[in-house]
Amino acid sequence: MYDYLVVGSGLFGAVFAQQAKAKGKMVLVIDKRNNIAGNVYTEKIEGINVHIYGAHIFHTNLKHVWDYVTKFAEFNRFTNSPVANYKGELFSLPFNMYTFNKMWGVVTPEEAEAKIEEQKHKAGISEPKNLEEQAISLVGTDIYEKLIKGYTEKQWGRPCTELPAFIITRLPVRLTFDNNYFNALYQGIPIGGYTKMVANMLDGIEVRLGVDYLENKEELDKLADKVIYTGAIDAYFDYKLGNLEYRSVRFENEVLDKPNFQGNAAVNYTDRETPWTRIIEHKWFEFGKDEAGNDLPKTVISREYSSEWKVGDEPYYPVNDERNSKLYAEYKKLAEVESKVIFGGRLGEYKYYDMDAVIDSALKLVEKELND
Ligand code: UDP
Repeated sequence: MYDYLVVGSGLFGAVFAQQAKAKGKMVLVIDKRNNIAGNVYTEKIEGINVHIYGAHIFHTNLKHVWDYVTKFAEFNRFTNSPVANYKGELFSLPFNMYTFNKMWGVVTPEEAEAKIEEQKHKAGISEPKNLEEQAISLVGTDIYEKLIKGYTEKQWGRPCTELPAFIITRLPVRLTFDNNYFNALYQGIPIGGYTKMVANMLDGIEVRLGVDYLENKEELDKLADKVIYTGAIDAYFDYKLGNLEYRSVRFENEVLDKPNFQGNAAVNYTDRETPWTRIIEHKWFEFGKDEAGNDLPKTVISREYSSEWKVGDEPYYPVNDERNSKLYAEYKKLAEVESKVIFGGRLGEYKYYDMDAVIDSALKLVEKELND
């Protein structure tokens, strides 16, 4: 018998399991995949830690979260500075003075600000109601057209006028020459890969892989007093109120017999025509070196394609628009009645969580659950 059955060994599950064990609880972690670490899973290919389920760059302002993760991994000094490729023209991201200079030839912050104001004014937006209006009011129409519209519509498969404004406010806009994608105080990639970090969290905890909870729910539920469920909330209820919408991602991975393909970890293809949204060149998350500090002769790239999720696909991004938010609220009511089960994480709470926020929410749950 276990105190907790943790369904899913991604960050939410691993953090909860680690903390519960540290507080003397008996924990069993299961995962339907044959590997731990959920979507932060990394796998070594040609000496490179490949982010198999998409690029993950750890960043946080929460000191307690940073203190927590650095107990399980040492982090390198990687700083995310993606490049946008619009039909062969390259722009710095996030939107900053380098971007404005390339787009308009402006040199000073006042000139950049004036340009944005002029475009915003022309578009007649006072209170942005959707992603398009929010984007234009932040950076003007030129940047919206070249660097936001195509990318966003590919990523979400919906027009920007039908997407919530908050998605774009994830990106900073700066009138300084600063290509750091994040404003966070702490940032980096765990040296040796995320899988190793999660394995360290799960050290000494029983983990069963290749076990599908929903297929074996009855027997598995008997094993523990409580269940921490980090899978999709609608799948838990067998989609009985209809399915929530997710975006899925497909990766085409390629090993290239050359040391440098694009000179950066992430290049976003922001036009509408290129079918992929971005190309990740994984070695640059670790400065092109192996753990001994040697240059790696080959490179691994992943082209990322976004698609609408259907049953059987991997869900990646919740689509937090109005319809889905309402439906989620209905599922949440059902979840509250399941007294033995706690729903957590990006899929369990249908929330576009970053890694640090997921860890923070798992730590909060621990405090609520286990502080006796
Ligand atoms: N975005 C954009 N152009 C870019 C990068 C991002 O318009 O080159 C917008 C887009 O709306 C996207 C959002 O910013 O959905 C968040 O992008 P980010 O790359 O941070 O999302 P991630 O996939 O990393 O969670």
